[in-house]
Amino acid sequence: MTVMSFEIIHLGSGSRGNATLIQSENSKVLVDCGLSGRQMEKRLGRIGVNPQSVDAIILSHHHTDHVQGAEIFQRRWGAEILANFTTCAKMGLDPVNQCRIFESLERVDVTTEISILPVPVPHDGAENVGFIISSGGNERAAIVTDLGEITDEIRKHLQGCAHISIEANYDAKKLALGPYPSSLKSRISGRGGHLSNRQTADLMSEILDVETKSLVLCHLSERNNAPHLAESEVLYQSENWGGDLRIAGRDGPEFSHWVGQVEPEILI
Ligand SMILES: [Zn+2]
Ligand SMILES: [Zn+2]
Repeated sequence: MTVMSFEIIHLGSGSRGNATLIQSENSKVLVDCGLSGRQMEKRLGRIGVNPQSVDAIILSHHHTDHVQGAEIFQRRWGAEILANFTTCAKMGLDPVNQCRIFESLERVDVTTEISILPVPVPHDGAENVGFIISSGGNERAAIVTDLGEITDEIRKHLQGCAHISIEANYDAKKLALGPYPSSLKSRISGRGGHLSNRQTADLMSEILDVETKSLVLCHLSERNNAPHLAESEVLYQSENWGGDLRIAGRDGPEFSHWVGQVEPEILI
């Protein structure tokens, strides 16, 4: 594999639908496909990407906000779906004809240019995974959402990533004082739920260093969070970090972060 770079573009983030495009010179891969087929087509169209040119969709877990458009996308535009066995089974996909199965902690070449390492994370009746993405260069990117707790495994793999997209789902105070029934509140804040701003900020304060050039906070709850709360919590704990911090919104496409060895012609 020659040294390549790849671009990360967020197409949508949050409980209404998650999808991120990874594109290198000759490959296009979606991480999750949680918007309708029509929305996927529309959002890709805004950045000049024909859905037919998407090679593969890699799925983190079976929840609707991550897979809603996956089957339609495959049927209409022919992209290969990759998921672990549980996700594939819970979606009712045929593991032979409709899905390439991956195993946790085994690197998978999704295309000739893009490979992923699925890392298991705890989440609500799902066999969820975060993805570490690389393209033959020495830089890696991470996309991790929907986890109730940081594990040593995910901490280890996030270290040294050039780009990190990670969820900051809720502000603990807003959730506690908000209108949700207490059973739902404990599910969200429990081991199988989501990361709070504080949990993400704590982790980032350990991990962020000069190697991490960009950080995108994802999957913010509309009701239990606000962009300025997530941002200030992370910045407060990582005040010496000088990288690019963004908050992913509901309606992408947004941002363009390059990872890998950026070749001179791409910089022009
Ligand atoms: Zn989700
Ligand atoms: Zn989920």
